[in-house]
Amino acid sequence: MNIIHFDVDGELKKHLKGDTRTESLQSIDSSEGVSKVDAISIKTGSNADKSTLSPFTNLKLLVTRTVGTDHVDLEYCKMRGIEVKNILDYGAFNIAEHVFALLLTGTRNILSTQDEIKKGTFSFRGHLGIALKGKTLGVVGTGRIGLEVIKLAGAFGMKVIAYDVYKNDAAQKELKYEYVELEELAKRSDIVTLHAPLLESTRHMINASIIEVMKEGVILINTARGELIDTEALIANIGKFRWVGLDVLEGEKAFSKDHPLIHQANVVITPHLAFYSDESVKKIASETERLMNPFIKPII
Ligand code: NAD
Repeated sequence: MNIIHFDVDGELKKHLKGDTRTESLQSIDSSEGVSKVDAISIKTGSNADKSTLSPFTNLKLLVTRTVGTDHVDLEYCKMRGIEVKNILDYGAFNIAEHVFALLLTGTRNILSTQDEIKKGTFSFRGHLGIALKGKTLGVVGTGRIGLEVIKLAGAFGMKVIAYDVYKNDAAQKELKYEYVELEELAKRSDIVTLHAPLLESTRHMINASIIEVMKEGVILINTARGELIDTEALIANIGKFRWVGLDVLEGEKAFSKDHPLIHQANVVITPHLAFYSDESVKKIASETERLMNPFIKPII
């Protein structure tokens, strides 16, 4: 089988065999002879749609090395008869750990103290932290990642409430959390963390009216997809938030140093790297190779 792996960084390259490229699908020149390619693997940097997939006239299989598939035009692939497979789980704990990295950076003033430290001031004054123990964590989406976050929250002694369109009764019993509607979650949570996929029904689920009912001083963490938050509404109400930790941004592919959120003192942004660890790169490589096997069932 003739395979090309796109969006491959140096770390993944150490584990992934074959033709690997750093470029995304958008950068491919149709004159490059890609018409002979049978299978490709990509990441969220690539938009897999009619314009990028047309030159791959022989393509039979597209593997996205991601959980989310919102960067793949599934309808177009179906129409072309291209099978699509995604990596369902390369270690949800990786993303859950990053949720707490973003959260603790804010609650324990890790970032805000650095300017003073660099100026030679070594003082706790003015940097009152927030204890997680006893606080209410609102988890939106109790799938693989949401449940890992709930497990870690248990270790911190937090109270957990959750919202999901599908209620996982077994997990609820085992991990002892409560399901509520989104608005109630917004009203009761000290911290809200997002773990739902990007769908038409979840786009801007955190919007002006949900922000309005949130507590003053609430903390918001998003490691799912940037489009779950209405960024304009977030910026308009940024003073309401004690802390915002974002691993994903709305329209992140067009990110620039002028992004209004990077100038907010109560916001920390990481570049969509929650998935990226020494453990996950090995798993992503082995799963990509496994999914290239024609006997593994596609999602379409
Ligand atoms: P999952 O499919 O296991 O869980 C998603 C959960 O969201 C499911 O329980 C589903 O019922 C729920 N859901 C669906 N629609 C909903 C709605 N309207 N409201 C509330 N909940 C809804 O997925 P996962 O593995 O837990 O991943 C969650 C998301 O995290 C992915 O879709 C992806 O976008 C994102 N992600 C980000 C990174 C990163 O590096 N930042 C890495 C992996 C995944």
